[in-house]
Amino acid sequence: MNQYSNIKIMNETNGFLWERRPQNLCKKCGKCCRVATTSKSYTELQELAKAGDQGACDFLELFEPYETIEEAMLVDRATVEHIGYDKNTTFYRCRFLQKNNLCSRYDTRKDLCRHCPATAFSLVPPGCGFTDWLHEEQQKIIDKVKALKAEKYSYQQELKGECSEHKRIMLNKLIASIDTYINNYSKYGAQNW
Ligand code: SF4
Ligand code: SF4
Repeated sequence: MNQYSNIKIMNETNGFLWERRPQNLCKKCGKCCRVATTSKSYTELQELAKAGDQGACDFLELFEPYETIEEAMLVDRATVEHIGYDKNTTFYRCRFLQKNNLCSRYDTRKDLCRHCPATAFSLVPPGCGFTDWLHEEQQKIIDKVKALKAEKYSYQQELKGECSEHKRIMLNKLIASIDTYINNYSKYGAQNW
């Protein structure tokens, strides 16, 4: 293994998370379809949909808003509190969720359903069958970021010594690509891992 071994790790293509998600972990509890929200307000979503944003159109085609946060709480208080909310938050339920917790359009469900949970850091309802698996996936990413930080440090040390212009350019490129990878996770606190 050479000193630039983590570059291999950075370039690994594990595929999208949802493509290798063990679907059998889903408990078919319907919680994620019964109480959902987005980072955008309902008004913003409607405006985006009017402007032709496909993600907003898809979401609003499936989900209808609860009138109030209290109404959503009556349906699933634990999930509402787990997600968290402020005065601008709207919770939604899917029109296609049946009383038996199954989806009435499972075979034609949209990508936003197929891909959920889409990232290792996706917020899932309490008791979701993917919880432990997502934690394992998160830990893999955290370990990778830590290894890359160590690798970046070693490159920075090399740059302090004598090295050719060619090597200097290469090391700076490696550092830049490590920073790009780590920045992908900055919103999850990668700077502190
Ligand atoms: S369409 Fe089906 S899978 Fe998608 S949110 Fe609705 S009930 Fe859930
Ligand atoms: S909350 Fe989790 S376990 Fe329940 S239906 Fe959704 S993905 Fe499956």
